[in-house]
Amino acid sequence: MATITELREQVRGPVIEPGEGGYDEHRRVHNGVHDRRPALIVLAAATADVVAAVNYARDGGFDLAVRGGGHSGPGFGTCDGGVVLDMSPMNNVFVDPVRKTARAGGGATWGDFNHATHAYGLATTGGIISTTGVAGLTLGGGIGYLARGCGLSCDNLVGAEVVTADGRILAAGEYDNEDLFWALRGGGGNFGVVTSMEFALHDVDMIYGGPMFYELADAPAVMQAYDEYIANAPEQLGGFFGWQLAPPLPFIPEDRHGDRFCALVPCWSGRPEQGEQAIKPFRDAAPVAAEHVGPMPYPALNSAFDGLFPTGIRQYWKADYVTGLTGDAVAAHVEHGSRVPTVSSGMHLYPLNGAVQRLGPDETAFGHRDAKYAMVILAAGPDEADDEARTRWVRDYYGAVHPYSGTEGGYINFMDVDDADRAPENYGRTYDRLRRVKAACDPDNLFHLNQNIVPAVRS
Ligand SMILES: Cc1cc2nc3c(=O)[nH]c(=O)nc-3n(C[C@H](O)[C@H](O)[C@H](O)COP(=O)(O)OP(=O)(O)OC[C@H]3O[C@@H](n4cnc5c(N)ncnc54)[C@H](O)[C@@H]3O)c2cc1C
Repeated sequence: MATITELREQVRGPVIEPGEGGYDEHRRVHNGVHDRRPALIVLAAATADVVAAVNYARDGGFDLAVRGGGHSGPGFGTCDGGVVLDMSPMNNVFVDPVRKTARAGGGATWGDFNHATHAYGLATTGGIISTTGVAGLTLGGGIGYLARGCGLSCDNLVGAEVVTADGRILAAGEYDNEDLFWALRGGGGNFGVVTSMEFALHDVDMIYGGPMFYELADAPAVMQAYDEYIANAPEQLGGFFGWQLAPPLPFIPEDRHGDRFCALVPCWSGRPEQGEQAIKPFRDAAPVAAEHVGPMPYPALNSAFDGLFPTGIRQYWKADYVTGLTGDAVAAHVEHGSRVPTVSSGMHLYPLNGAVQRLGPDETAFGHRDAKYAMVILAAGPDEADDEARTRWVRDYYGAVHPYSGTEGGYINFMDVDDADRAPENYGRTYDRLRRVKAACDPDNLFHLNQNIVPAVRS
């Protein structure tokens, strides 16, 4: 096993031990609940650094936390006493406008990605917040505004470079290590460190959309209108339904700041001049109390809610896939949603139809293409003293709506620490094959700080 001095000689990026400059800054992750103290933090500057860090952690018997954007709810991007491999310096994004592809480093965020691709009038499906990591989000599936039109983020992945547990550098793609490539598209961070990912891009430049707030009294009508329209709406229409405590923003009347609303956030990625017509059923659902809807660059909508989720905010998550909304389910949502505790809390219903359902159920490792929605309930706030109350709101809400979900699984990227045992249901129909790929790539489970897949026992 290499000593720390030898490791420092092998890598170009900084290697930080407790007590050294930058340690406190770099041990932190987005969810402020996780205050952990790793033995070593390696900031990877190149694939060679990743190989050295993986070898060091494996040979030393350390826990290895691989961090992309650091947004994992359970804090998988940090650990106590182990090695953190922080990929954030590897955040370059190279666009090939002729092939309409972009290759992103394993530490890029969606902000990095959109900044690079928007210059060419191109985009691919990312999340709804720009500070989330491209790698972590894509490996779990990748749900966002463009999913109904362009598929999940992982559906747009055309290739990746991966450092596996034995320190090898592998290419994964349609004709390279096909099992690994299949597993990377929904199987989470279980199979190795992704040093770069190549994505297909689409002609998405200006979009038409933004938040629309409705009175709570109209929530049942708005939810039902959303549920009916999104079932067959044109695929360029994405977005989500949610609850929102009104932030102090200019488009909301000052005397309504802090009030609770239900919200639709449409994103029309077809021709902007068709946008108003495309969202008409949302306007017709009920009177709109406040809105900020119009044509805007796609990256503007992708970063519109960033301010609600600063690094260090304390979070608790629960999630399900949902097959449909019954009247009883709507009533349970309204009861709990109308008590949303903070401006950074909510329940979102993300549609999973359209292009997402054009891929066969086993074509990628993402195993829940038959669901209509991915539902997430998140409570977040700055004060530790309020953790218990926020967590209780999430659990009570989840307990009330889970019986109507129609499925046992939830999106792996929306799971918190206490949902580790749900992994088989969350991966769903692809779990057994994922276990076999895991056994081939990482039989000793070096990469276990994730929604973990237990390696299949080899006969
Ligand atoms: C504010 C916020 C908004 C979100 N919005 C969305 C959304 O709109 N859509 C959506 O689908 N999800 C969303 N998520 C969930 C998000 O997809 C997950 O938290 C995801 O895991 C974050 O990826 P990351 O790289 O930022 O996180 P990290 O904490 O860095 O990593 C998460 C997991 O991915 C693995 N990983 C990260 N980088 C690599 C790499 N380079 N190689 C191998 N493994 C790696 C890690 O080991 C870990 O297991 C959101 C999360 C937050 C906090």
